[in-house]
Amino acid sequence: MNVYDAMRMADVLAPLGYRHTEQPEHADLVILNTCHIREKAAEKIYSELGRLRAIKDERQGGDQPMMIGVAGCVAQAEGAEMMRRAPYVDLVFGPQTYHRLPEMVARAHRQSGSGKSPGRGIIDTEFPVEPKFDSLPAATSQGPSAFLTVQEGCDRFCAFCVVPYTRGAEFSRPVADVVAEARALVGAGAREITLLGQNVNAYHGSSPAGGEWRLAALIEELAGIPSLERLRYTTSHPRDMTPDLIQAHGDIDILMPYLHLPVQSGADDVLAAMNRQHTAADYLDILDALRAARPDIALSSDFIVGHPGETDDDFDATLALVERVRYAQAYSFKYSPRPGTPASAMEDAVPEDVKSERLARLQALLNQHQLDFNRGYVGEEVPVLLDRRGRGHSQLAGRSPWMQAVHVDFGNPADAQTAYGSVVDVRIVSAHPNSLAALPVTAADNIGQEPAAV
Ligand code: SAH
Ligand code: SF4
Repeated sequence: MNVYDAMRMADVLAPLGYRHTEQPEHADLVILNTCHIREKAAEKIYSELGRLRAIKDERQGGDQPMMIGVAGCVAQAEGAEMMRRAPYVDLVFGPQTYHRLPEMVARAHRQSGSGKSPGRGIIDTEFPVEPKFDSLPAATSQGPSAFLTVQEGCDRFCAFCVVPYTRGAEFSRPVADVVAEARALVGAGAREITLLGQNVNAYHGSSPAGGEWRLAALIEELAGIPSLERLRYTTSHPRDMTPDLIQAHGDIDILMPYLHLPVQSGADDVLAAMNRQHTAADYLDILDALRAARPDIALSSDFIVGHPGETDDDFDATLALVERVRYAQAYSFKYSPRPGTPASAMEDAVPEDVKSERLARLQALLNQHQLDFNRGYVGEEVPVLLDRRGRGHSQLAGRSPWMQAVHVDFGNPADAQTAYGSVVDVRIVSAHPNSLAALPVTAADNIGQEPAAV
């Protein structure tokens, strides 16, 4: 979602004349879009700000001074404190106010014109009443695979999580707005759209005919857009995995056979302490129903190890769940206490070395399953949406329906150029832990064959 938000910030700044650059040395405005989900992510920001400060200082007094902004959830959580710690920052704004960027930039310019004193930067961490999405310009091209935020914020209040505090209350965009943005993205070349939300399957947007639509109905509507070939959505909570949404995986062809459905832990007492509001058995029942609807569905999850109160037995229950599910891929993290969350005040903290040891064991198992999953595709013909250039001019990369990264060598730049941006059937020739290698089907099938006798 931060990637999507950053693109929307660029959209909102474009009318002011701002263009994208890869080098901060050339930038008139640098915005760090930040994540507060774990402490490690939050701490990185200050070292990055230190580097930017050096560039800003060098350009001070010149005719092109540089402005620094901090956006996202760390900005939201720290606000004025961030301005105190880094007084050379000009703008601090949260995820719900970036549509006001043009106004903030103009104010910051006026202040710097009149000689901004340190610590007098602009802070906007409100949760405004005007909906952000109504004030943003139309989304521009994102290429063959595009993101589209349909839902933001969260009302679930898992004990460990800052999202409800930084992103705010749950909000779903109206169906008509989502459909219009999807059509625009497809018109600009998107063949795949990933619907985004912190708790995307809690989507309940107002429908054109009155009333509300849940995510399954939205997906069905979007599936009717001509030239759209793939739909995905992320991230979902198990409790919001309704029967109609599970059934959509069986009924809607362009809904890809892959689902990121975080379980966090396999132990019921830890799930209860986390306030996840389901048991391990409930979760496994949902997966059974998904596999019944779409037998080839690939599954992914997030795990937290070392949540307060997690015992050795609890951790073993997580390993047992992983053995049972055999995820195609997964993300796993050491529990990180976040200020203001209920879990940060819980007793029975798990020592750091125990967390590290558990994380290593869990990741070894998850990696093994991921490699096994990938190996199962060697020799298979797989449709890949080629949305990225590869290392050489003859190579492209993209994703399989099951979300694997696939690197394809076309053998010549012309074929690669033709294939870019479309879904192409390729033959998988080898599997690695994080990717697959492939050749165009005809080239792969000729390998090893004797040249035909003339
Ligand atoms: N809405 C999603 C998760 C969004 S946060 C869900 O309900 O599952 C993304 C992931 O970050 C979470 O799934 C969790 O595994 C991890 N995470 C969140 N807070 C964390 C914390 N305090 N410590 C460690 N990992 C955390
Ligand atoms: Fe955080 Fe996800 Fe729980 Fe919401 S559902 S509080 S985003 S972990």
